[in-house]
Amino acid sequence: MTDSRSILKSLKDTGHRITQSRKLVVEALCGSKVPLAVLDILAQLKRRRSAVNKTTVYRELEFLNKEKIIREIDLLEGKKRYEVIHSAAHHHHAVCVKCQMIQCVEMENDLFELEQRLSDRHRFKVTSHSLEFFGLCKDCQ
Ligand SMILES: [Zn+2]
Ligand SMILES: [Zn+2]
Ligand SMILES: [Zn+2]
Repeated sequence: MTDSRSILKSLKDTGHRITQSRKLVVEALCGSKVPLAVLDILAQLKRRRSAVNKTTVYRELEFLNKEKIIREIDLLEGKKRYEVIHSAAHHHHAVCVKCQMIQCVEMENDLFELEQRLSDRHRFKVTSHSLEFFGLCKDCQ
């Protein structure tokens, strides 16, 4: 989990305003081990008795995405999820199709060889990739 204070500080240092809603959205994302959907963020804000509405949350997410503080993840649920980029090294997600459990997974060597081959054979320079796994968690098997 990333320290929300360091993110807020770097935003402030680069001349951005730290509004209460911005602070709360960053704190919600930093405090979570799994990528959050908009509804999850709203639920957390509600628990903290904040009156931040959905439109504001969307606007904050767009801002944080543009600032490369968070990234969007599509786990084929028909909604997007968001995760703080600094929170962990490059990783992937394993999603249980039965209970919707989400786990962040790091892989040794990752797709380095595949990317190398793409570059060698197709002269395609990979700058990033996204890969998620779907299946059954240990409780659902
Ligand atoms: Zn499961
Ligand atoms: Zn993750
Ligand atoms: Zn990877």
